Amino acid sequence: MTLINKVAIITGAASGIGRATALKMATLGAKIVATDVNLAGVEETISLIQARGGEGVFMRCDVSQSADVEAMVNLALSAYGKLDIAVNNAGVGGTMQNAPDVDEATWDLVMDVNVKGVWLCMKYQIPAMLAGVGGAIVNIASLAGVLGFRMNAPYAASKHAMLGLLKVLGKEEQAHGIRVSAICPGGVDTELVRASRPDLDANTLMTVDDVAQAVLYLLSLSERCAVDVLQLRRRGAEPFA
Ligand code: NAD
Repeated sequence: MTLINKVAIITGAASGIGRATALKMATLGAKIVATDVNLAGVEETISLIQARGGEGVFMRCDVSQSADVEAMVNLALSAYGKLDIAVNNAGVGGTMQNAPDVDEATWDLVMDVNVKGVWLCMKYQIPAMLAGVGGAIVNIASLAGVLGFRMNAPYAASKHAMLGLLKVLGKEEQAHGIRVSAICPGGVDTELVRASRPDLDANTLMTVDDVAQAVLYLLSLSERCAVDVLQLRRRGAEPFA
């Protein structure tokens, strides 16, 4: 598989799944636009890519802010002239509390980043892709968007909402040549999961590279087929839950 001459935006690329995906896609030749609220982190991601002979640019972008998201897409266009791929990965976990104990600020933050942020990204990415030959959008949702886990209400609600948004966008963009898909991982070894799921045995967690590999799998599919939702669980988690 090659991504030579492809231009890819990756949000939340300062760490975890986003950074691993950026590194893998750059290795295959993609030009990477790495963004995050953590500016030092995305700068480091691009340094790592360049040290391996890859190419990319970075900027600070809060996906819940429309001006930031518009600037992110404009950066892809000004640096590389087009946009082929977007991996909308930025997300926050919220707090581990029973639903009545969650405070309003936490609820709003999780919804703003995980739902509004993904909508804003696609709102600006899609016209840029349509100006070219179409494209592929891979959104990182969660098994928490399919199943219900205790003490996780805002996060679960946000990821369920994100999948609802994608069901609509997938249909709307089908005719325009843009493939919209979601990966729903459960239990990946990152800061987010260590903070939000201390109950999970660290030895059973998947790695960020496992999810990055799943992104590459979606991007490698022939134009004849598409995957809407890819559920990726820990081997020890319940099958077909
Ligand atoms: P992570 O915390 O390492 O990465 C999340 C990144 O998003 C961070 O770099 C963070 O700075 C960035 N971010 C947070 N708010 C942002 C904002 N407003 N704008 C832009 N960037 C912002 O965690 P991760 O596990 O790599 O998470 C990546 C995605 O994977 C998230 O959407 C998360 O919900 C999803 N996910 C993770 C797991 C898991 O087990 N780790 C499971 C399912 C889904």
